[in-house]
Amino acid sequence: MKIGILGGTFDPPHFAHKEIALRAKTQFGLSKVIFIPTGNPWQKSPQTSSYHRSEMTSLLIEDIDEFELSDIEIDSNKKTYTVETLQKLNFNPSETYFILGADAALGIKSWKTFNQLQYLCNFIIAPRSGVDILELQKNFPFNFNEISGSELDISSVNIRNLILNKEDINQFIPRNIQNYIESNNLY
Ligand code: NAP
Repeated sequence: MKIGILGGTFDPPHFAHKEIALRAKTQFGLSKVIFIPTGNPWQKSPQTSSYHRSEMTSLLIEDIDEFELSDIEIDSNKKTYTVETLQKLNFNPSETYFILGADAALGIKSWKTFNQLQYLCNFIIAPRSGVDILELQKNFPFNFNEISGSELDISSVNIRNLILNKEDINQFIPRNIQNYIESNNLY
């Protein structure tokens, strides 16, 4: 049973997160994809608590049976390291697929004990505008599978700015998450 893992800050989660998970599932025959919101992402400063990011992620995936949420990183106050998360999950490495965006992939050598990752999972990378596949092939330290399809021009930082400027975010975020953001006064 092939399992996909999509870790993210999800601040906030958006349609591109869901779309890359759907494409990974279809294109690589994954049985399910587990979304793992980061508890304490040491390379980013989330604007929103891990509780709210996890709740919003759960709303994003509620209509897809093969998508699950794991709070494995939220349940700990320690810094979030992917190597430790995968060790804790203890899945069969040959059937585990870590899904990540191309810019995150380019930074992988800065992750704690990144070299261990090759023994814990396979990689599926989503294209991202501005990241050339040749650059990725040159710099990504492990073999990887590439998600095909058009690049998705959505990013959490742009959405946060739109919300701040009271602009429309309908095309980036489902209604249920917009309602959650409004009721909890986020961003
Ligand atoms: P994020 O911004 O919430 O996004 C989640 C994933 O979706 C990222 O790989 C992101 O790639 C990708 N994505 C978002 N929008 C996309 C789009 N429009 N097209 C294609 N891809 C898109 O997550 P994050 O904060 O980068 O974290 C990703 C994972 O890396 C998390 O599991 C985190 O724990 C892990 N990480 C681990 C360490 C470590 O030390 N072990 C360090 C840093 C990160 P982009 O980055 O390209 O947006």
